[in-house]
Amino acid sequence: MEKNSMKIEIKSLLENVAVVRVAISSFVSSLNVTIDELMDIKTAVSEAVTNSIEHGYVGKNSMEDSFVVVKADISKDELDNNVVVVKIEDKGIGIDDIELAMTPAYTSKPELEHAGMGFTIMETFMDEIIIDSKKDNGTTILLTKKIKKKKSNS
Ligand code: ADP
Ligand code: MG
Repeated sequence: MEKNSMKIEIKSLLENVAVVRVAISSFVSSLNVTIDELMDIKTAVSEAVTNSIEHGYVGKNSMEDSFVVVKADISKDELDNNVVVVKIEDKGIGIDDIELAMTPAYTSKPELEHAGMGFTIMETFMDEIIIDSKKDNGTTILLTKKIKKKKSNS
């Protein structure tokens, strides 16, 4: 099977998280995924996109160029399992201290009732998370999940 990929770009508005959820679900549904695997991917991607919208572009004057790009690719590992890699990218304010941001229950916005569990959720539900971010230089999150080969898998 030809390797599949998709790329969507949304304006930085919270209502568009639902657009990404539908798109990524539909995209990985072409694979032989379990409901659990699907939910894990959907949840982790939602957290990353929500972060770009709620934190990345906060305080930026112009909303004109506030977009979040979500790119997903399916490849195979050496054991023939499908591997889903999702890249979530914003051009926002960036993360000053990545280690601190990843600390469970840390949030820079406690007053807005954020739980600070987004990165913990991404780490728990995916096999790998790579964060590339610099202050004032945007944030790129790379999420990887192996889709275990099913007995009747193609
Ligand atoms: P929460 O979103 O509840 O604050 P997270 O674990 O999702 O918790 O994120 C932790 C912190 O990392 C955020 O409070 C924010 O300061 C920072 N952060 C996360 N994603 C981004 C982003 N895309 N751009 C800027 N800062 C971010
Ligand atoms: Mg969050």
